[in-house]
This record gives sequence, structure tokens and C-alpha cells, in this order.
Amino acid sequence: MTESPVQLYRARTAIHPRSVSGRFRNAKYAVLALAYGVFFLLPWLRWSRDVGPQQALLFDLPARRFYVFDLVVHPQEIFWLAGLLVIAALLLFFVTGVAGRVWCGYFCFQTLWTDVYMLIERLVQGEQPARIRLAKAPWGMAKLFKLALTHVLWLAVAFATGLTFTLYWADAPALVGHFFTGQAPFPAYATTLLLTVTTYVFAGLAREQVCTYMCPYARFQSVMFDRDTLIVSYDRARGEGANGRYKPDRELKERETRQAAGHGDCIDCGYCVQVCPTGVDIREGLQVECIHCALCVDACDGIMDTLGWPRGLVRYTSQNALEGRRTRLLKPKTLGYGVVLLIATALLIGSVAGHPDIDVSVRQTRNPLSVTLSSGEVQNRYTIKVDNTSGRPLRLRLVLDGLPGAHMTVLPSPELHLRPEARRALYVKVRLAPEPGQARRLKFRFRLQPQGRTSEPEPVSVPSQFYTR
Ligand code: SF4
Ligand code: SF4
Repeated sequence: MTESPVQLYRARTAIHPRSVSGRFRNAKYAVLALAYGVFFLLPWLRWSRDVGPQQALLFDLPARRFYVFDLVVHPQEIFWLAGLLVIAALLLFFVTGVAGRVWCGYFCFQTLWTDVYMLIERLVQGEQPARIRLAKAPWGMAKLFKLALTHVLWLAVAFATGLTFTLYWADAPALVGHFFTGQAPFPAYATTLLLTVTTYVFAGLAREQVCTYMCPYARFQSVMFDRDTLIVSYDRARGEGANGRYKPDRELKERETRQAAGHGDCIDCGYCVQVCPTGVDIREGLQVECIHCALCVDACDGIMDTLGWPRGLVRYTSQNALEGRRTRLLKPKTLGYGVVLLIATALLIGSVAGHPDIDVSVRQTRNPLSVTLSSGEVQNRYTIKVDNTSGRPLRLRLVLDGLPGAHMTVLPSPELHLRPEARRALYVKVRLAPEPGQARRLKFRFRLQPQGRTSEPEPVSVPSQFYTR
């Protein structure tokens, strides 16, 4: 007997989802409108600053500054980005533990862009039966025109997406002008092209295959599920009854008659399968392809409404609830995620709100650490770099704390006038006549004392050390 070879590749079967209306579909449209509004309009939002670009959100790599409304992020504060990523991961774990794949179903870029591509497809090619007919029809002018128009519109959305993403990295109005006159820098064209191609391929051609085969989250999220997690489920006991689902023929139309005959509430209409963007039959249980978009819930609720039967044959529920047990949404695991999430968020907010307006770094000259002068005094040298991150001009004075008897000379001057976003280096010599028996290393602090108005920032004090020999 010969064994048939294992097929490692399965060709994609085109999915033509039917449209559906209902509360989850409306919620998805609302999220879609909000996400597109924010993404496409944000680069055009102007923002008044004393210095720097007048764009609300701008990631200015050449200037090494991220402008986020009134916040300016400098390279030394890039750990905020790491904090933001940690918070995003914790939020994902927390939400997945409570409500399953809501990120996938409602907020993921792949879902949002695929949704728009499907809307375009429907607009150009018609509802599901018309699209299936068109796919099967022989090539002709009508088919060519409809498919070409679909792909042109997909490419237009992909290009708008790519260009908009690029606008976050430069002044948007200027970049658009330069882009279409061929004067934009090469990375702007390369980024736009890359995003255009990936958007078109992922949302237009690959679609559910991105979620099923490419997305790592789809693979590991099942370990975050437990019997209390809310998932889109088919109520098998109600739908099948003792003798299985059954189409509503003349004898078995009424619910009571069906129940008496041992049949459940599922009339096997297939609507829940037809609306599914990933081609899943939710009646076969939880499957990795299911992105929990809940469109099958809307579909089945619509059928139940038409029949006058209670909604919820397909619904958000937990495995425990389906088996007649209590659902505990907040368990130690999810509470743990929630607490860590709150702590991480509070730490990040505290760090952003409390970051000083002046950033100071002190570097001591090491070679040599100290020099004994002909006068008997010992001299140490330092380079102090001062950044004005406050967004307004500052007047500062450099002073020494905790080194009695020491003298300091500063080049160019201990008085500093710093424009917003300006950086200055100070070259400092500190001299001290050491006393007999004094320790080799003395600790002291450099202090930058704001001068002038009471609204100036707090003084900044930086520790350093003086070597007496
Ligand atoms: S939509 Fe509801 S009634 Fe129709 S097949 Fe699906 S589960 Fe059964
Ligand atoms: S089975 Fe239902 S929830 Fe899952 S992807 Fe399909 S329509 Fe969405």
C-alpha cells in the first residue's frame, strides 16, 4: 500500500463574505471611522510651539526629537517608548484574558484595512452572490472592468495609507508638496512604496491568511484563554437539541414543535458562515481562524429576530457559562495583569509629568584625574552638558555645593542663556587646597540654579566627585 504524500501547502480558497447589519457591525464601523479619522487627519493637525515644528505629532529623526502635542521626547527619554510597549503588551494580555480576541476583531490594522477593502469590493462588484458569479464568469470586458476598478481603488487606499504614514516623519504640507514634485528625500518614496505594497498585499490579496498563518499573536493567544474568557461561541445545547439542527420545513416551523421533536433552534440557514470574513463555521467550536469579530452573532441574532425566537444562539460567552457554571471575569491571573498594567501606566505618567525642564550630564576628565598646581592646589576638570528641554528660554547659573573652600572657573561662563531646545557644553575647572589627612575622594554636587522669574523650573543638582590626589 502506498502512502499519499503530506501536503504542506494549501492553496487559498477565495472567501466572499455576505454583508450583515447589527450592533457588532455598527461597533466595528464606529471603530473603523475613528481609527481612519485619527490616522489620516493627525499629520495635518497644526500645533503652536515657541520652537520646533508646528505639527501636533511628528517623529523628527534628523533633529532627534519626537513631538507629541506639548510633549517633546529627546533621545535620553526614549525609554518612555519601551514603557509604552510594555503597557501595550500588558493591556493586550489583560483584555485577551477577559474578552478574548477583541483586538483582532475590532482594532487590529489588518482587520480595519481588510474591512475597507471588502467595502470597496462590495461597492464595485455587488453583494456576495454577484461577487461569486463574477469570480466564476469567463473573462470579458465587464469582468475585466470591475476587477480592474477594484484593484485600482485598493491601490489608491494603499497609497494613501503609505503616504500618510510617511507624513508622521516630516512636516506634512511641505512633504506632500515635495513628494509630488519629485523633491522629497529618497526614504519618503521608499517608505511610501513599502507601505503601499504591504497594505495592498495584506488587505487585498492575503487577507485572512495574514491572521491564520503570519500573525504570531493568533498563535500564542490561546495560552491566555481559560474557561472564563469571553469568546464568540455557538450554544450547542440550544442549537442542536437532542436530535441536531434542522431546517424549518412545513412540519417543523414552530419552536415548540421542533423542541418536541428533539430539534434545536439552529435552522441550518448558514448565514453565520456566509458573513464570516475568515470562512469559519462557528458551530464547529473555537477555531484558530476565528478573529472574534462577532459578525456571526449579528447574523444569527437577525435570524432569531425574524423567527421571533430569543437572541443569543451565537453569542459572547465563556466555556464555563456554556456548561452551566458561573463566569469569573476577574480572576487572580487577570487581576494580576490589571494591577501590573496600572502600576506601569502610573510609572510612565509620573515619569513624563515629572521629567525636568533641564537635562544635565557631567563627565569628569579622567586622564589625569587630578593635577597638583605650583600653588599647592589640586585641580579636577569636568565637561557639563546642559539641555533646555522646557520649550521656553532659560537663564541658569552653575554653582558648587558641598565642597567648601573650592574655586571654580567655567568656560565660557557660569551664566547660561539657553534658547528652547538648545544645548550647551561648559568646561569647568575646580581647584581646592587639600587639608592634611583629607580623603582622596570628596563627594559634592553641581547645581544649575534658574535665575529670574519665580515660574522658572526647579534647580537641578547633579552628583560628582573631586580627587585630592
Ligand atoms: S445563523 Fe444561527 S440559525 Fe443560522 S446556521 Fe448559523 S447558528 Fe444556525
Ligand atoms: S466565526 Fe464569527 S466571530 Fe469568528 S471570525 Fe467568523 S464571523 Fe467573526
